[in-house]
Amino acid sequence: RAKQEQKGEWLFLDADAQRQSVERQRLLADIRAGLAGDQFRLLYQPKVCLRTGGVIGVEALIRWEHPEKGTLSPMQFLPALEYHPLMISIGEWVISQALRQMTVWDSEGLALDVGVNIAAVHLQHPDFATRLAGALARYPHVAPQRLDLEILETAALGELDKAGSIIRECESLGVTFSLDDFGTGYSSLSYLKKLPVRTLKIDQGFVSSALLNGDDRAILKGIIGLSHAFDKKLVAEGVETMEHGKLLIRLGCYHAQGYAIARPMKPEKIAAWKKQWRPYPEWSAGEYVK
Ligand code: C2E
Ligand code: MG
Ligand code: MG
Ligand code: MG
Repeated sequence: RAKQEQKGEWLFLDADAQRQSVERQRLLADIRAGLAGDQFRLLYQPKVCLRTGGVIGVEALIRWEHPEKGTLSPMQFLPALEYHPLMISIGEWVISQALRQMTVWDSEGLALDVGVNIAAVHLQHPDFATRLAGALARYPHVAPQRLDLEILETAALGELDKAGSIIRECESLGVTFSLDDFGTGYSSLSYLKKLPVRTLKIDQGFVSSALLNGDDRAILKGIIGLSHAFDKKLVAEGVETMEHGKLLIRLGCYHAQGYAIARPMKPEKIAAWKKQWRPYPEWSAGEYVK
């Protein structure tokens, strides 16, 4: 009887797993068609200096203009690709598209640096550096130094020493690296020690709760201190209000992105945004208080 029940449960799991895998197969086929059919877009969100208002660059964020489902955000389709080679196809499309966009902006007199998000599986692909070099070679007028690769602290990065050597190989091409969502991983300090990144991106969670919560403010302070100790650049994510920016300035973090500055936008909107953008007066007046 117990055996039968067990068997029943297995059958149930099987059916469920089967349904999931059918759905996933359908999504994968859809994504493949979407890539072929030019349904993906990059939006760009400015990164600025809160005090001077200077634009440091933009981050490319993918969207899927699905013919039936409308605009899909990355969290609606990227997780299904976590361990799938299609993630590499998407990643390569993102890199090329960002480089192409830089040449378009250049021709309009907007020399912007661009950050792109790179999935761990993609970074770890044995040909990553070679294919990145290939993409850069197709855009010889874009200095590789202007491309920043944002990587997440995730278990999928696997052997940190190996990831570290891939990063060094890519850096020898000129590109730079940022650790995205810094502080949310399970071993941020090992990542900081082992991965030769240039920038830490403070996760938006710390920024939004730092105003309300002393512990998160302490973590935020700690991360800012770490960035100085390790000689890393810093960018805070998720600056949604004037107060967020003011607090960051007070704690000594000047570079940021977030809705209080600009939402992710279509590339053709960036020039007009840049022309009218001014930091809050409270930010320019802000002082670093120890
Ligand atoms: P991320 O790299 O940490 O990007 C920041 C996310 O926060 C973006 O969401 C952005 O739209 C959102 N955001 C920006 N400012 C604010 C703010 O002030 N408040 C709040 N609440 N959110 C803000 P998005 O575009 O939905 O992207 C989510 C994540 O998907 C990204 O997090 C990144 O990890 C991943 N992603 C996005 N584009 C790509 C891509 O091209 N390739 C890969 N592999 N991952 C991508
Ligand atoms: Mg990012
Ligand atoms: Mg982030
Ligand atoms: Mg994130």
